[in-house]
Amino acid sequence: EEALLEIEDLNLSFDTYGGEIRAIRGVNLSLRKGEILGLVGESGSGKSTLAKAIIGVLPKQNTRIKKGRIWYKGLNLAGEKERVLRRVRGRGISMIFQDPMTSLNPTMTVGNQIMEAVKTHQKLPSTEAKEKVLQLLQRVGIKDASLRMKQYPHQFSGGMRQRAMIAIALACKPDILLADEPTTALDVTVQAQIIELLKDIQKENGMSIIFISHDLGVIANVADRVAVMYAGKIVEIGTSTDIFYHSKHPYSWGLLSATPSLETTGDVLYTIPGTPPNLQQSIQGDAFAPRNKYAMKIDQIKQPPMFRVSDTHFAATWLLHPEAPAVDAPKEIR
Ligand code: ATP
Ligand code: MG
Repeated sequence: EEALLEIEDLNLSFDTYGGEIRAIRGVNLSLRKGEILGLVGESGSGKSTLAKAIIGVLPKQNTRIKKGRIWYKGLNLAGEKERVLRRVRGRGISMIFQDPMTSLNPTMTVGNQIMEAVKTHQKLPSTEAKEKVLQLLQRVGIKDASLRMKQYPHQFSGGMRQRAMIAIALACKPDILLADEPTTALDVTVQAQIIELLKDIQKENGMSIIFISHDLGVIANVADRVAVMYAGKIVEIGTSTDIFYHSKHPYSWGLLSATPSLETTGDVLYTIPGTPPNLQQSIQGDAFAPRNKYAMKIDQIKQPPMFRVSDTHFAATWLLHPEAPAVDAPKEIR
């Protein structure tokens, strides 16, 4: 299938007083037209950094792209000037965040904020622009749109604020939507509604979505493909079936067994022991090795390449080396 976005060997660091934080350490990823790609991983694995790199909103002062490219419509977003990135943000790629309150302007009505987004996308006479705002509000499921457009974000519930953010994101008719934990702050019922809304909109517009979450249950419900991130790298990628039923990476096994849904009843069987590596220190071998009970000698020395499991499924673990001993996924997740 056609790739809309192609990330090649992206390496990105933050300079801090404590030293260099290597937040993205060689990411390769392609996003296809019309797919929902789930991105999962523990806190600090680099999910938000990756999304912000794509849309070009990382802080200029201390972000350093050390290597790699982000291809989108013939542009390398990793090297483009702010002027170009702004145009891409207005036309092709939008992002929504966990807490809409931080991205909505508290001093401006919701209607005017959507209006601004509409106007950056296309020049329209005011009456038509206002009509578009109403349509967008209705599309994201906000009732009494003509009243609601005159209200301020604090007059909206959490779920409605997220809907308003989605309306802003849609105003520019993006072909890529980056959704960074868009439902994490919401209660379960509202969470399900927002997910359904995103799925419906995706079907209508045929856009591609990168859906970030640390909740595998949510990812299972939305994603066509899933990428698992650990310490700034994608360690496994495949279709939802590949990842949820045939995963090959011991880190994915850990995430899956730490998820109470998938057939187990409530009690968490297993959490991944240990903590992610310090990204300020250089990492020898496989970054997951210290937490991997199946680690071998080579894990201490050399980073595993992405081994091919099938045409759709890849994982970076030495367990997939032809000479490695056969290891089965733990029985709780089989
Ligand atoms: P979470 O699930 O908690 O949202 P995440 O996977 O989104 O985590 P990131 O926010 O991308 O993780 O962070 C990756 C690493 O980069 C972390 O070590 C984080 O502390 C660091 N980091 C992120 N932004 C900055 C920044 N602006 N300056 C310095 N370090 C940063
Ligand atoms: Mg994040």
